Amino acid sequence: MIIAIDGPTASGKGTIAKALAAHYGLPHLDTGLLYRAVGRQVALNGGNPDSPADALAATAFSDALLADPELRSEASGGLASRVSVHPAVRAALLERQQAFANQPGGAVLDGRDIATVIAPDADAKLFVTASVAARALRRWAEMQAQGRQIERAEIEADLAARDARDASRAAAPLRQAEGAALLDTSALGREAAIAAAIALVDKQLAARDRG
Ligand code: C5P
Repeated sequence: MIIAIDGPTASGKGTIAKALAAHYGLPHLDTGLLYRAVGRQVALNGGNPDSPADALAATAFSDALLADPELRSEASGGLASRVSVHPAVRAALLERQQAFANQPGGAVLDGRDIATVIAPDADAKLFVTASVAARALRRWAEMQAQGRQIERAEIEADLAARDARDASRAAAPLRQAEGAALLDTSALGREAAIAAAIALVDKQLAARDRG
């Protein structure tokens, strides 16, 4: 069984994907981490994330890089968003993601193009979103908890810029796939969002089983 989850930054899709993986007993892949690793590797190489050649060269990152805490930073997120516009970068990461999705027993994947490109035949598809204000507030609270001081307005501007770049790029733009259920988490706490996601997936699985 494949569960595909897409949505913008800080929508709650990562939390929901992990919870669904635990609930259904499936392995989980955060595909954003792969793009973050490419972005970080470009920086380590002293390359330019906007150069298709530099970004493609960085897809040869070592698996050890995936454990680097720096990948979670806003800077790495911004670099990821820039390298992910290059079709050659997306193509280089495609096989790894599809192999994960198609492993025996299935998997949960979250990202931007899981239901549209990586696994269009997924058994359940969710598009998780939330208002920019709600997402910025969450990101701000996370940073406060880590002792990092940053203006909320700055986070909002960064999220809006990333949304625009992800949704307007020619290669695999962020959009709700056909057949994907919409889950708006703006007004939902963690547990309520997870419960709503499980209910939506169960509904899709029941519809699939009815054929
Ligand atoms: O989800 P996360 O914030 O970690 O993703 C970082 C960036 O990687 C996104 O802004 C997006 O540009 C890119 N990405 C993508 N396709 C995916 C996952 C992430 O283009 N499947």
